[in-house]
Amino acid sequence: MLDIMSTNKISIVVPTFNEEGNVEVLYERIVRVFADLSPFDFELLYVNDGSSDSSLSKIKNLADNDLRVKYISFSRNYGHQNALKAGLDHADGDAVVSLDADLQHPPDLIPKMVELWRAGNDVVYTIRKDTNKISYFKKLTSSLFYRFVNSLSDTKLEEGTADFRLLDRKVVSVLRKYNESNLFFRGIIPTLGFKQIGIPYTPQDRFSGSTKYSFSKMVKFALTGITSSSAKPLYFSIYLGLFFAASAFMYAIYAIYISIFTDKAITGWTSIIASILFIGGVQLIMIGIIGIYLGKLFTQSKNRPNYIIEEKN
Ligand code: UDP
Ligand code: MG
Repeated sequence: MLDIMSTNKISIVVPTFNEEGNVEVLYERIVRVFADLSPFDFELLYVNDGSSDSSLSKIKNLADNDLRVKYISFSRNYGHQNALKAGLDHADGDAVVSLDADLQHPPDLIPKMVELWRAGNDVVYTIRKDTNKISYFKKLTSSLFYRFVNSLSDTKLEEGTADFRLLDRKVVSVLRKYNESNLFFRGIIPTLGFKQIGIPYTPQDRFSGSTKYSFSKMVKFALTGITSSSAKPLYFSIYLGLFFAASAFMYAIYAIYISIFTDKAITGWTSIIASILFIGGVQLIMIGIIGIYLGKLFTQSKNRPNYIIEEKN
């Protein structure tokens, strides 16, 4: 009896940034999905990521009328990934489903996710099928992004995965310990192990409003993805240093040859050119080494809070 009762609640975590036109529709869609999903009930947790429109008051309205609606409101905009983190930190369901507020992630997929979870999967992630609902620009940047991240890092990201997934409670409690400052859940979750399964879905049109990922946010997100799942960029300087050191060495041999076997060399030229090249190469190698250590320290020292909560219910 206790066991049945303790696996009944599913938390839906929704990062929300200026989504006043979507908040209520999403609630209605979730209510409808769960009407046919007994014995499961839901907790709908909106994480208001510093919205400047009426999202928060709409959420509060819903919460006043339905105890299953919860909210966390940040003191400012902390970004999508930190909003997700806050949601995972506060959700108390037996499984947590994260999805976007704009209904691009169809709530109708939740029953299927729940079914796979009950069948023993701990992570049910989704893979976006390409449709003409996604702009050409978004498709192109997204495919470049996945290719670039995968060429640099050791863990492979599957193209088209987004932050639309179901996580078992035990995976959520592991993720709560991840307090690094540049969170990138897509890169972290595949490395965790557990039983993971992917299902395809067709993305829908954004219901209301426009995308909250500006081009600069996308670039920032891509850089976060690369640097948080790989230290390889730090090695560039070492390779560059080695290349220059090797060229300097060869050039030095040439300079010595000129000075010994020809009379073209100006006095002092050989030693100056050789030492400049050599020192330049050595410096680049050293900067690269320092970079690696600095990168490690940087990873270690990330212990600022990821977000600040102003209010919640
Ligand atoms: N979002 C957020 N904080 C941000 C940017 C976006 O919480 O700084 C939320 C947004 O409200 C939405 C989800 O993250 O629920 C995905 O954003 P969006 O739909 O704008 O991204 P896209 O689908 O265009 O990639
Ligand atoms: Mg969207």
